[in-house]
Amino acid sequence: MSVAAVLRPADYESRLQRYLFERSEEGRAVRVGEKEVSERAEIVARYSDLFTRAQLESLRDAEEVESPGQERERLYRLRKTCEAGLIAAELAAREDALENAILAARVEFDDEELPLRSAQAKLAVLTSYADRDRLGELAGDTSAVFNDERLEVLRAGETLEAEISGIDDPIGRIEEEKGISLRDLERALDAASTAATGVYDRLRERWFERLLGPEREPVPSSYHVSYLRRLSPLESIYTKERAVSVCMATLAELGFDLEAEPNIKLDLDDRPQKSPRACVIPSDPPKVVHLITRAQGGLHDYQAFLHEAGHALHYAGCDPALPYTFRNISRDHALTEIYSYIVEAISRQPEWHARHFDLSDEEAATNAEATIFMEALLFRRYVAKFQFELDFWGRLAGDGGTRDGYAERLTEATGVRYRPDGYLADMDAGFYSADYLRAWIRAAQLRSYLEGEVGPEWWRSAETGERLRALFAEGTKPSSEEIAGRIGFDPVDTSPLLAELGV
Ligand SMILES: [Zn+2]
Repeated sequence: MSVAAVLRPADYESRLQRYLFERSEEGRAVRVGEKEVSERAEIVARYSDLFTRAQLESLRDAEEVESPGQERERLYRLRKTCEAGLIAAELAAREDALENAILAARVEFDDEELPLRSAQAKLAVLTSYADRDRLGELAGDTSAVFNDERLEVLRAGETLEAEISGIDDPIGRIEEEKGISLRDLERALDAASTAATGVYDRLRERWFERLLGPEREPVPSSYHVSYLRRLSPLESIYTKERAVSVCMATLAELGFDLEAEPNIKLDLDDRPQKSPRACVIPSDPPKVVHLITRAQGGLHDYQAFLHEAGHALHYAGCDPALPYTFRNISRDHALTEIYSYIVEAISRQPEWHARHFDLSDEEAATNAEATIFMEALLFRRYVAKFQFELDFWGRLAGDGGTRDGYAERLTEATGVRYRPDGYLADMDAGFYSADYLRAWIRAAQLRSYLEGEVGPEWWRSAETGERLRALFAEGTKPSSEEIAGRIGFDPVDTSPLLAELGV
């Protein structure tokens, strides 16, 4: 009888690198429509030795004897990756079945049979208010059918995580991994969201009128949010055709020539089988980083491109001499989202609109205000979502998971009506909401820092590019809070963010 071989940490890390490379490349091929059948299960099976309890124990032992510092952090991240892989393997069949059932669900709309995901995507482009309400309702009903199974999978995952990590409290477990207090973060965000109420209410009145028209209800439903987000009435200015060239020119002013960066593999083509959501796949940073977009028309294309370019430049710009763990593995997503947010923030500069779209200063200022309105809406929505998630996970052991407070919190924060049974489809794993919110705070701090150091033209200065390159070189190693320290801010100082929102 042979005992399965357990790898030493250095060998584990290099085998993990090969596994993640193969898995990422496979995922990319399917996503962009190069392959129709995913062979991911075959790859997972071939590397199943990476995710065993014996391997986890061995990594934990290695971590415990290491003194605190870089090596221990590296071992911690390898151990958490092993834990996540074990949980994913145990849940894979159930999660795949749920995912496939959702993919197979159809929504009947005006003699058309739409896949649920297409129905949700179509909400962004339907021009009639009444049609969006009708389709949104149908899609919401269809999605809610899966709630029982979503909740079951979530509970099963929670039980496994508690057992494998040895930490029962889901909030305490996330705080340990992120290295922060979620309650402190919540307090700072709650105060910021409240402080922005007056400004948000004024912006909302003006832009609901302009974007949704006079037939809108006093509190429109959330079915209109993706349409709002595209700023569809301004679509003739922000055309699909110009998205790539304008974004490339924007990055060139920072000193980044995306087409000449050998590490970034661009896929910007419009192909029917390609998913319209822009994304970055860091298959093997810094050498192989894919940036994938597919323009649909509207300002959101430009914002999505700039956002993903921030991620791509971060991964492709990391120091190749760093251990693999610090090039591709992180405790959470809060660090890389700072870099996507800061690049995307350029699209909120009035002068950017004037320069690239041949607008008068007044038109440019108006359109930039629309982007601030969307930013305020999304920020307040995320704060409410995060607060609901804290309640949800805090109550889970007692009540098994309920929707209480979801619709109330989100509707109150946004002035948009959310349906109570949307709570599970709106929840991402591992408190991703907290990572986005930390990036919201940090990117505004970074911008304020750049304005101070580089000047008001920070968004089109090569010096900004140089400073960003220095941060990118550190890979995934620092925490978001460490970056706050470097630029001279308290991690939960929301004053730069409030200034950006016009408070
Ligand atoms: Zn992102």
